[in-house]
Amino acid sequence: MNLSHKLLTLLLMIMTGCSNAPVTQAVAIPTKGGITFKNTVVSLTFDDGDADNYAARSILADNNLRATFYIVSGFTNTAGYMTSDQLRGLYNDGNEIGGHTLSHTKLTKENDDNLIKREICLDRSNLMAYGFEVTSFAYPYGYYDERAKQTVHDCGYNNARVVSGGLNTIPPNDAYTLPALPYIVSDTKFAKMTRYVKDVENEGGGWAIFIFHHVCDGCDKFAVDLETFTKFTNWLGTQQANNGLIIKTIDEVVGGEVKPAVAP
Ligand SMILES: [Zn+2]
Repeated sequence: MNLSHKLLTLLLMIMTGCSNAPVTQAVAIPTKGGITFKNTVVSLTFDDGDADNYAARSILADNNLRATFYIVSGFTNTAGYMTSDQLRGLYNDGNEIGGHTLSHTKLTKENDDNLIKREICLDRSNLMAYGFEVTSFAYPYGYYDERAKQTVHDCGYNNARVVSGGLNTIPPNDAYTLPALPYIVSDTKFAKMTRYVKDVENEGGGWAIFIFHHVCDGCDKFAVDLETFTKFTNWLGTQQANNGLIIKTIDEVVGGEVKPAVAP
């Protein structure tokens, strides 16, 4: 049966069925004390490629979630950062690998255009050389200006994230300044994280981007501890499976073709 036949059959079923039988519709049943999501998209992002981020891999996979990891490729395979093999493991699970400059440079503080191009383009081509399709970028510290935006575009990225500004729309107003929720820090409680998500739905829907840095117990003020992260991830997985919440990588939301690497 082709598509038009299917549609015709469906139409006939509706036409003949609605006069004498109640139309029943599948409705997502919210968990106790929860809400049903209809218009909320969440993206989980991790900045810097810290070694402890690798602990998130199995927790995400256990809950059928995929996240975006923004990597400082000049730090990859050095002490304190994930190895290229670990990045490949994340990527093979369906997580996205994005760029975050070669050496975590404050792009607005540099005067040398060539240095900026190298920081952004070479970082992307390094990550692509590992075999990743790299379309998403995050400005270190959220520092950006018109020159940085243009260079990110010219290096072949399809989007770039900043570090503030709250909720996004889909499609975003400006794909090269995607706003995000406030940083998740060591005293951000589980209840606050879930409230961020519920507030999106309660305010009419939108796209919420979370920013994580370290994933560890008390190693940094920009860290989420493993218990809180696991609890939040379990909650997200349940909302995704049962309550209509949509969780996607940045690339999955913004889309666009993968452009070739650009020489710096
Ligand atoms: Zn960073």
